[in-house]
Amino acid sequence: MGLNTLGIIGAGQMGAGIAQVAAQSGLNIILNDISQDMVAHGRQSIERSLDRMIQRGRVKPDEGDRILRRIEITSDLDGLAATDFVIEAVVENEEAKVELFQKLDRICPPEVIFASNTSSISITRMGARTSRADRFIGMHFMNPVPAMRLVEIIRGLATSPETYDATRQLAERLGKETMTAEDFPGFIVNRILLPMLNEAIYTLYEGVGGVSDIDTAMRLGTNQPMGPLELADLIGLDTCLAIMEVMHRVFGDDKYRPCPLLKKYVDAGYLGRKVGRGFYKYDAQGTPIPPPAAAR
Ligand code: NAD
Repeated sequence: MGLNTLGIIGAGQMGAGIAQVAAQSGLNIILNDISQDMVAHGRQSIERSLDRMIQRGRVKPDEGDRILRRIEITSDLDGLAATDFVIEAVVENEEAKVELFQKLDRICPPEVIFASNTSSISITRMGARTSRADRFIGMHFMNPVPAMRLVEIIRGLATSPETYDATRQLAERLGKETMTAEDFPGFIVNRILLPMLNEAIYTLYEGVGGVSDIDTAMRLGTNQPMGPLELADLIGLDTCLAIMEVMHRVFGDDKYRPCPLLKKYVDAGYLGRKVGRGFYKYDAQGTPIPPPAAAR
């Protein structure tokens, strides 16, 4: 595949992670966000992640510099005209994503593939609102991107076999394993994971246990590396709520009803690890501090 320059929109936790692994694989990156501050913040998080890898001996210091130099940052969407493939990783909101794809549709050459890193939103419907539904696909990375091996690929109804092949090849070039899901809300990973996280939040809401009890129960009792409340904080509580709302609305089944406590945390701006506060508070090193046992 003639892919040299990858465009990534959204320099939050996912966009920055995707930019890092793609630059590590030798691709040139144009990383975009709504403001120069946001995109610079994304670049700083890549720098910190590479520094940790250098300290652990996984990346050589001169290689770290080379990787960073491959990442160009911009808040100007027109810069994306020079890319061969675009991955979108902005907020989990269908209108925001579609508005962005419609702008990109006018900026990028027609052969460029658009991949959305959405966690739940219909690939078919977003693709249909561009002029390139056949070159539109879901490319769902896992968080944190440098550490997680999977990319879930979602084919929209109009996605062409060529687009699917090019996307799978790109994921493999980034060192990821892939599987394919049909285009239904939450696809496979989040269809199964998010109801479990939502149920953990209901367990807290109903007072069955405190934050530490619930996470300890699931870590030690079911051999998960991280408890569900800590994982919800890592994903972002705004993203968890958005995913549950999509599944609830589209399936029309109350088993996907988001827990009122999840809504309350999002209303309070307690969005999880990315803002330093969710079900846990996080110190400057990102270490979680559980709330007192009685706290909700
Ligand atoms: P985030 O809040 O960390 O980052 C989102 C970024 O998008 C922010 O920097 C924001 O400024 C930027 N943005 C918003 N609108 C924009 C626009 N119009 N143009 C350019 N940038 C814009 O969120 P995240 O966790 O990185 O999630 C991003 C996407 O990835 C969502 O669709 C989410 O569902 C998906 N996702 C998240 C996870 C996870 O665990 N957090 C995992 C897989 C997929």
